[in-house]
Amino acid sequence: MPGRQSMGLNVVIMGPPGAGKGTQSDLLAKDRDIPKIATGDIFREAIRQGTPLGIRAKALMDQGQLVDDDTVIGIVQERLTRPDTARGFLLDGFPRTVAQAEALDRVIAERALAPLVVVNIDVPTEELVRRVLGRRVCTACGANAGPGDSTVCGKCGGEWIRRSDDTEGVVRSRLEVYDRQTKPLVEFYRGRPTYRAVDGAQEARLVTAALGAALDAAAAVGIGQSA
Ligand code: ADP
Ligand code: ZN
Repeated sequence: MPGRQSMGLNVVIMGPPGAGKGTQSDLLAKDRDIPKIATGDIFREAIRQGTPLGIRAKALMDQGQLVDDDTVIGIVQERLTRPDTARGFLLDGFPRTVAQAEALDRVIAERALAPLVVVNIDVPTEELVRRVLGRRVCTACGANAGPGDSTVCGKCGGEWIRRSDDTEGVVRSRLEVYDRQTKPLVEFYRGRPTYRAVDGAQEARLVTAALGAALDAAAAVGIGQSA
């Protein structure tokens, strides 16, 4: 039976805006030594560089809308062909629609990759709004700060700013978009033996522990499935 390394660990971290996907994904990807692929980060980088993709993405992101499926799917498909994904990958912010999830399933099937492990981080809506409005990101290294943290980045000393899509109006539309387009994905994945949900409303380090345990349990099932 192949071990986890040779099978690869292919993870999707799901959850609404403000669930803590970014922070938790960073920790998890480092811990498991697999690359984190965050579509939101890819778009923010394109915006910083002023590419045509960045210009189009900014208009949509600042209204809380999604970038179109074909564009996002193309970017992720290309990213998943790079050699650093051979032992696995962690997707943060993708898929966000059923069409994106179906495209990802096709990649997994075509390349006979290990079954996706999908972990959903659950947090009540009002808590999400509170978190997103309090959140700051570092202009230099992209790290996240929670409410009440200091005014400079603890990692690199860079300046904290609020993301341009973290205003009350935009957050409400991002949550609406989430309910309409991304929540159906929970139904899409829920029946799979490699799907897990964790409580994201607890302290961050408890979420980290719960995610790690969910990942191991689901990955063990996944290895059994494809062996
Ligand atoms: P959040 O913190 O709200 O989860 P992200 O940083 O993941 O946000 O993404 C920010 C924005 O980038 C989204 O609101 C959306 O406009 C765009 N985006 C990111 N990932 C996707 C995707 N998979 N499909 C479409 N749009 C996306
Ligand atoms: Zn920083």
